Amino acid sequence: MVSSIEENLKRVKEALAAAAERSGRDAGEIRLIAVSKTHPVESIMEAVRCGIEAVGENRIQELEEKRRSWEGPPVDWRFIGHLQTNKVRKAVEFSSAVDSVDSPRLALALARAAEERGTTLPVLVEVNTSGESSKHGVHPSQAARLVEVLLEECPALRLDGLMTIGPLSDDISEVRRAFAMLRTLRDGLARDFGRPLRELSMGMSGDYEQAVAEGSTMVRIGSAIFGSRSRP
Ligand SMILES: *Cc1c(COP(=O)(O)O)cnc(C)c1O
Repeated sequence: MVSSIEENLKRVKEALAAAAERSGRDAGEIRLIAVSKTHPVESIMEAVRCGIEAVGENRIQELEEKRRSWEGPPVDWRFIGHLQTNKVRKAVEFSSAVDSVDSPRLALALARAAEERGTTLPVLVEVNTSGESSKHGVHPSQAARLVEVLLEECPALRLDGLMTIGPLSDDISEVRRAFAMLRTLRDGLARDFGRPLRELSMGMSGDYEQAVAEGSTMVRIGSAIFGSRSRP
């Protein structure tokens, strides 16, 4: 029997490929992160059976529980939620990457935890491109300072790029503007710091086609794969 997760994934992958083609991009350079928050390990297992290699979780406790009960093949467990400094040890222990570093304080705490554990943790800087106060992420004007701290004071962290959450808007041009802002910001930081900062994590179920058009290299898709959630 074909599961709904399998059907959903097929649809998302087709739409992603079409969006990449419209922008003259290679779909192979866009990674699909299946955002599994609130959904059970069985659903993750099904997504992995269908070819998913990276999942996204936004709560440390939920991530820990899922990893402890995980019996499937190795998966990339990306932490995409707001991280409090008192949870950095667990973040280092249970995630393969933290995509939501949004302050020098958090960066330094995470770096110390990674160093204590003897690992190097890949991270992204989360930027608030929409100006919505409900959203986490560093203000665009503070991003350079945070990147500087990461590159110069956090040897146990490996900065791969930037992440953002698009504005909650039906206006496609406003959504695209936010994604374009992240790309422009990345280009400037990459030039100023002499690092590629290759990754642009942007695009969710409702706006990933716009994100792909603006250069996304990682889309974070939850409800379009796993169905709706009772909490955000
Ligand atoms: C929940 C979440 C997503 C996925 O949202 P959908 O709209 O369900 O695709 C992506 N990114 C972050 C940071 C999230 O918290």
